[in-house]
Amino acid sequence: MNDNLQKFMFEHAGVRGELVELSETWQEILSHQNYPHPVKVILGELLAAASLLSANLKFNGTMVMQIHGDGPIKLLVVECDSAQRLRATAKLAADAVITDNATLAELVHSHGQGRFVITLDPNDKLPGQQAYQGIVPLDGDSVATIIENYMMRSEQLDTKLWLAADAQVARGLLLQKLPKIGGTESSVEDETEAWNRAVILGSTLKQEELLSTDVNTLMTRLFWEETIRVFDPVHPQFHCNCTREKVGDMLKMLGEEEVNSAIAELNQLDINCDFCGKHYSFDQVDCAQLFTTNTLVDGVVAPNAIKH
Ligand SMILES: [Zn+2]
Repeated sequence: MNDNLQKFMFEHAGVRGELVELSETWQEILSHQNYPHPVKVILGELLAAASLLSANLKFNGTMVMQIHGDGPIKLLVVECDSAQRLRATAKLAADAVITDNATLAELVHSHGQGRFVITLDPNDKLPGQQAYQGIVPLDGDSVATIIENYMMRSEQLDTKLWLAADAQVARGLLLQKLPKIGGTESSVEDETEAWNRAVILGSTLKQEELLSTDVNTLMTRLFWEETIRVFDPVHPQFHCNCTREKVGDMLKMLGEEEVNSAIAELNQLDINCDFCGKHYSFDQVDCAQLFTTNTLVDGVVAPNAIKH
C-alpha cells in the first residue's frame, strides 16, 4: 500500500499535523477520465484536502466536497469516508477551453457564481435527520487558502494547508492549532509561539518539493528539530460505492416521461459511473420495471390510505 496518511503532534505545543500522500488512489481516479492539467491539479488538491480534513473528524460517515463552477469547470466532487476511502470526479462545460495557466477563479468562479459546499453525511442517519452542510466562500486563489479561510470562520480553528497535485500524485500537509484546554502547563504565549514556529517550518515547503518528496522524508526534513509524537499511519484507498440500484434511483429522479423518451430513441440506456467507470445498462424492460416498482409500492399503501 503506497498511500499514506501520517498524523503527528508537537509535544507540549498544542499543535497537530497530518501529511498525506495519494498515489495509487489518485491513479485509480485518473484512469477513468482524461482531464486537462489545471483540472487535475485542482481535483488532486481537493482530494488531499478531503483526506486531511476528514481524518481529523470524529464522525462516522462521508465528507463530500463539491464545487459547482460557473466557468469551464461545471462540477468537482470529492468524497472521503471515515475509513479514508476516496473517490472523485470532475465535469467540464461542453465548450470548455482550459489553458495550462488557468487560475482556480477563472475555472470555477469566473462570473462570481461558483459554489463550494462541504457536506458531512452520517452513515446511520436517524429518520428525518439531515446531512450537515457548510457553504465555503470561494475567497482565495488556491484550494488551500479557501479551506483555511473557511476553517477559521466556521470552526474558529487556525489551520494551515499546503497542497500539491500533478498527474502522478496528490500530497498535502495540514497544521492545526488545538483549542487551549484549561489546566495545561503551557501558557497562551508559549502556544502561540509554538504555532507560529510550526507554520514557519511548514512554509519552507515549496510546491515542487511537496510533489517530489515522500511523506516520511518530508516529515524528517521539515520537523527534525522538533519533539514530535507520530501516530500509526493510515492507508487511504480508492473506493466507489455505486450500485445498479443507485443508478436506477437516478433514472427514477429524471422521471418516467424523460426515461421513456430516451429509451424510445436509444432502445437501451448505457450509463457509466462518473467515479469508477463501471458500466450499467438498462433495456426497455429494466426501465419499465423502475417505474412499475413505484406503482406496486403505491398499490400496497393505497388500501390502508383509504381505510377510514
Ligand atoms: Zn462507481
